[in-house]
Amino acid sequence: MKVLVVNAGSSSIKYQVMDMTNESVLAVGLVDRVGIPGSTLEHKPLGKDEVVIKKDLPDHTAGMELVLEVLVNPEYGCIASMDEIGAVGHRVVHGGEAFAESVVIDDHVKKVIRDCFDMAPLHNPPNLMGIEACQRLMPNVKHVAVFDTAFHQTMEAPHYMYAIPYEAYEKYGIRRYGFHGTSHFYVAHQAAEMLGKPYEECKIITLHLGNGASMAAIKDGKVIETSMGFTPLEGLVMGTRSGDIDPAIVFTLMDKYGMDSQEANNYFNKKAGMLGLSGVSNDLRDVLEAAASGNERAQIALDVYYKNIKGYIGKYVAYLNGCDCIIFTAGVGENAIDVRSNICKDMDALGIIMDEEKNNVRGKKVDVATPESQVRIFIIPTNEELVIARDTYRLSN
Ligand code: AMP
Repeated sequence: MKVLVVNAGSSSIKYQVMDMTNESVLAVGLVDRVGIPGSTLEHKPLGKDEVVIKKDLPDHTAGMELVLEVLVNPEYGCIASMDEIGAVGHRVVHGGEAFAESVVIDDHVKKVIRDCFDMAPLHNPPNLMGIEACQRLMPNVKHVAVFDTAFHQTMEAPHYMYAIPYEAYEKYGIRRYGFHGTSHFYVAHQAAEMLGKPYEECKIITLHLGNGASMAAIKDGKVIETSMGFTPLEGLVMGTRSGDIDPAIVFTLMDKYGMDSQEANNYFNKKAGMLGLSGVSNDLRDVLEAAASGNERAQIALDVYYKNIKGYIGKYVAYLNGCDCIIFTAGVGENAIDVRSNICKDMDALGIIMDEEKNNVRGKKVDVATPESQVRIFIIPTNEELVIARDTYRLSN
């Protein structure tokens, strides 16, 4: 059976077709500028050249229609007919407290996704648009929702409650949810295999360091704490997000700059983080390069970034009461040698000792700890699409 994986954003649709008989990827693609003049579709079929199609796509349905046309194209398609697609897996960012695992989409599931619009205004509405477009075009197959929040639903109240009036939780669902769940799930299971231990007996710290970044502490097969909170703004310093700050900064700057809540949201999500602090870029490669050529602010930004992550590792070792491994994944975690090295520097008191020579790799699944290190240091390339495809395949059978 073949599964189509769809990740619909506000103006983009990422997709992947997987053959589940051997979990191979048959094609990947990206529709960009949906609803904006100048839409494009980039399609990369396995073993063939990439195709770029330029065609205005007014909405997600038009975008998905083009994707389906491309998939069956005799020249650059990857399947003979749409009948080969047995199910569609949709990435959905927020499932609130309703879903601790992936589910087959029905009217109730769509209602919950809609109920979570307020909590994920940039993600859930386009996710639902993608689902509805696909359901219209493929009414006879099962559609499965895979939530970014689901894996973290094992957190217990002390780890998800904020110390604000309880009513805010009861009335508005203000609590910590956590995101990047499929990535944390994938690498944690890979790590258990590398440790040679049952997953349910491991103490694992996952570091998903990409443009967005989050960490999770996983004990006995359950997430006990994760760094993103009510929204993906909390936690680590990210490309353009501030991560943890004193909340009083928000209302102070709203007053000073005369920002309304929407503008403040934009400020802390889009203008802060590595971009705001360094003044260079949200891309860590640029910040590393600037710091190396003497840019002081870039160096400060990096030091804040490292300090924050080190602090989270310490906190999570305390929550876990020990640690079998830490895992680096995502764009930065898999590729940024210096970043990994700086994070693991002077952590021997926590049993973390990196072999700098082994660490000199990019994008490979390896252990870069020294033999004496009590904590293994794994680099594990993430694969969120595979998690979505596997759940979709399982639930559609
Ligand atoms: P992601 O969000 O997982 O796609 O990660 C994207 C981020 O990875 C980019 O913003 C870059 O900052 C970062 N990245 C990718 N390759 C490298 C590298 N070789 N060194 C440092 N950062 C990198």
